[in-house]
Amino acid sequence: GKPIADFQGLQFMLAEMGMKVEAARQLTYAAAGRSERGDKDLTFFGAAAKCFASDTAMQVTVDAVQVLGGYGFTSEYPVERMMRDAKITQIYEGTNQVQRIVMARQLLAGIQSEI
Ligand SMILES: Cc1cc2nc3c(=O)[nH]c(=O)nc-3n(C[C@H](O)[C@H](O)[C@H](O)COP(=O)(O)OP(=O)(O)OC[C@H]3O[C@@H](n4cnc5c(N)ncnc54)[C@H](O)[C@@H]3O)c2cc1C
Repeated sequence: GKPIADFQGLQFMLAEMGMKVEAARQLTYAAAGRSERGDKDLTFFGAAAKCFASDTAMQVTVDAVQVLGGYGFTSEYPVERMMRDAKITQIYEGTNQVQRIVMARQLLAGIQSEI
């Protein structure tokens, strides 16, 4: 008898989605700043931003489909396409497994702790 957005379970989901998108945006800006300055930790930040933002895009679009139920799934509405588009960002430009290897190598080489 009331809009699903009035339910706390849905509100928790929306808050989580908004929080993750903003965290991904901030990490992307942090990497962009390092790229402009040519900072030593750019490799770590570039990999972290690509990985975190694309994983976030995937999680958030899967949840968006869930929130919209059947309408989220059908191709009549744009959200299922957004979910499929999010998937490729985890794969191209260096898969997220490979980005994690890049980050681990930077950590093991002590680049982060030097700065
Ligand atoms: C729509 C689209 C557009 C593209 N555009 C371009 C483009 O413009 N330019 C370009 O050069 N390429 C492009 N690509 C290719 C894309 O970059 C590759 O698909 C991507 O690098 C993954 O390589 P692969 O498909 O050979 O997968 P594989 O390398 O075979 O990987 C398969 C799986 O194994 C995992 N894996 C592989 N090695 C390891 C490892 N050592 N440790 C752990 N896991 C591992 C991967 O993470 C992945 O999940 C595009 C691909 C698509 C689908």
